Amino acid sequence: MLTGKLAVITGSNSGIGLGVAKELAKQGADVVINSFSDTPEDHALAVEIASEFNVNARYISADMSDATQCRALIAQAGAVDILVNNAGIQHVAPIEEFPIDTWNAIIAINMSSAFHTTAAAVSGMRERGWGRIVNVASAHGLRASPYKSAYVAAKHGVVGLSKTVALETAEDPITCNAICPGYVLTPLVATQIPDTMEQYNMDRETVIRDVLLTRQPSKQFATTEQIGGTTAFLCSPAADQITGTTISVDGGWTAL
Ligand code: NAD
Repeated sequence: MLTGKLAVITGSNSGIGLGVAKELAKQGADVVINSFSDTPEDHALAVEIASEFNVNARYISADMSDATQCRALIAQAGAVDILVNNAGIQHVAPIEEFPIDTWNAIIAINMSSAFHTTAAAVSGMRERGWGRIVNVASAHGLRASPYKSAYVAAKHGVVGLSKTVALETAEDPITCNAICPGYVLTPLVATQIPDTMEQYNMDRETVIRDVLLTRQPSKQFATTEQIGGTTAFLCSPAADQITGTTISVDGGWTAL
């Protein structure tokens, strides 16, 4: 149980981040939900989680593409015990056509934000004598795909950052690991389906089976609940000696 712990989950008003926030709240953790949209719905989400799981939950707006806002999120959250770096975006294009602004945004949101939030959170974890840092990387942190240069570079970077932070905190009761999901059906993936249907002139089921899940041997999406459960496991005593590693939740993708 995580009662009395405070978890900050970046990029958690939808998809995997929301699944992780709910699972940690289910385990009793107080949670901070984050995105940069700052809508009434974002704040309502925190109220819903608080009432469903009987924990404290609040929404803090911060743009994870901005170093100052990443660090301010941690300062505003308070005594952060669990940090889940999850915010991420995707763009698919051949390298010679890859927009420079999009490259910079993906590197900033998917990778550099984890550097800034971790740098801001780790000294408090040391002082309080406990901390868990979980970075949501990807199967693309371990394998490449064409046309995803920025995403693959950022996710490999997150895996490297996780190992480095684990070594720097190894003698403290702090762990840092990366979860590497295969495909999870979230808004980030769902938006790729219509484009791919049009590109290959395929129906939805064929796109899912033969394009999206072509490298996922289980032929099933992982779920946000499974990523949440894996995060909760990494925060449990059973994982006290698991640090500096990756856990794949990818239906066998990286076994290939
Ligand atoms: P999603 O689009 O549902 O969620 C992305 C989240 O990031 C949202 O909450 C969004 O508000 C937030 N976000 C985006 N830009 C932000 C910014 N500048 N500042 C703050 N928040 C921002 O996508 P998802 O599929 O849930 O992805 C979550 C993470 O999981 C990402 O890091 C993604 O790379 C990773 N991932 C996803 C899959 C998948 O198949 N869905 C697979 C492997 C890894």
